Amino acid sequence: MDKKWEQLIMESYSRDNTLHLTSVCSQKCVFCSHRFNPPEIEVFSPGHLSFPFIKELIEFLDPGRPVRTGESVSRVIEGEPLCHPNFFEIIEFFRSRYPSTPLEIVTGGDLLEKDEIK
Ligand code: SF4
Repeated sequence: MDKKWEQLIMESYSRDNTLHLTSVCSQKCVFCSHRFNPPEIEVFSPGHLSFPFIKELIEFLDPGRPVRTGESVSRVIEGEPLCHPNFFEIIEFFRSRYPSTPLEIVTGGDLLEKDEIK
């Protein structure tokens, strides 16, 4: 693991119990830090993490605590989790790995269809 953002993501999984998926977002909220961080703040925007990489990272989560996705906890930009092309596969994998761990999904919800909400 030689990239700084990979180290930060590893920490967000293992320390903050965050299921980081992507730095891509479908919105452009005026209050969002993504575009308005001071220029001296170094932030990382790696795009979608690959599903195989996410599968590895999920092993570092603590199933005894709630897991959250879609919330920034580091200098890696956290985007809209529903933008990830493998979102539902990832959620199914997470649930098969941790059947009873609460999963909190922070989302604008604009990409959800009615049948997907179920
Ligand atoms: S990450 Fe959240 S706050 Fe930022 S643009 Fe997307 S929806 Fe808005």
